Amino acid sequence: MKNRIESFRGSDHFRLNYIADRVIAAIAVPGTGSLGNAAIIDLGDTTLVVDTFSTIQAAEDLKAAAEYLTGNPVSYVINTHWHSDHTSGNQVFLPAAHIISTSTTREIMNTFARDRLAQYRENTEQLYQAIEEFKEQIQQETDEKLKREMAWENASDREFMKMLPNLVHSLPTITFDQQMTIHGSNRSIQLITFGGGHTQSDAIVYIPEDKIVVIGDLVLSKHHPVLTYANPQEWLNILEQIELLDVETIVPGHGEVCSLQELHEVKGYITDIMAIVTEAVQSKNSIDEIEVPELYRSWYFTTYFKTNLSKVYDMITKLED
Ligand SMILES: [Zn+2]
Repeated sequence: MKNRIESFRGSDHFRLNYIADRVIAAIAVPGTGSLGNAAIIDLGDTTLVVDTFSTIQAAEDLKAAAEYLTGNPVSYVINTHWHSDHTSGNQVFLPAAHIISTSTTREIMNTFARDRLAQYRENTEQLYQAIEEFKEQIQQETDEKLKREMAWENASDREFMKMLPNLVHSLPTITFDQQMTIHGSNRSIQLITFGGGHTQSDAIVYIPEDKIVVIGDLVLSKHHPVLTYANPQEWLNILEQIELLDVETIVPGHGEVCSLQELHEVKGYITDIMAIVTEAVQSKNSIDEIEVPELYRSWYFTTYFKTNLSKVYDMITKLED
């Protein structure tokens, strides 16, 4: 198997960013089948990949890159959380690799995510129709930044639909509940979960000697964090736990490789969203007219601002009932 891939000419789906000796971030190119970021870590005698993108195609390129760059087949794949833009490419790495996640993440992939995928398969016609309608909406959008983002989303959705018939829902084969260490001949890495913040269960990959953390969607760089399945307070607690680690470099779930500054920005964002919604609820104002605060106006994933507000609004008003 060694050196099976003799050349890798790069991928349309991601750009490689060499962040330490044999630690490589694969940064998603917007509007392609990747959607989320991934990482390749050379452990010496074995190779590990973190997250598997949104499509089979992007994952195949990731596998080729990992094998080419490390000279070894991929032995371990980590799923930081269950979202499909981090797990859809799993099948590409089986049966050769072990796929590892927290037990909660595997449980959700085997229930909720599996059911949702079955619904997608049953409703492909409606989904394609929604994609076409969204395209018309894009043509009418006058805000250039938003228009570009919507076009990326539309293109990514098409990529996902294209590979849907070939998608084999592939679950993690090894699970852990708190912490797990993988030892290679050149370095050891730690898988850690502090519970659920962005989703019901989020794991990070920590490389202590290089002060790197591959953090999944707990930190996005210059993108609105996604609160759809979040527990905002727990998310803040988890980020505080991560701050106690010795970290200098962060591979975020979306956006460019970053540092603790972006982690602090995410904390600020979640705190701000909770404050904005609390204020609206207390003064009995609607959240519909609230605009993106100046500080976050250049960030991507703009459409998540409104869904984030609604999510927190529902949480607060439900608590008050
Ligand atoms: Zn996510």
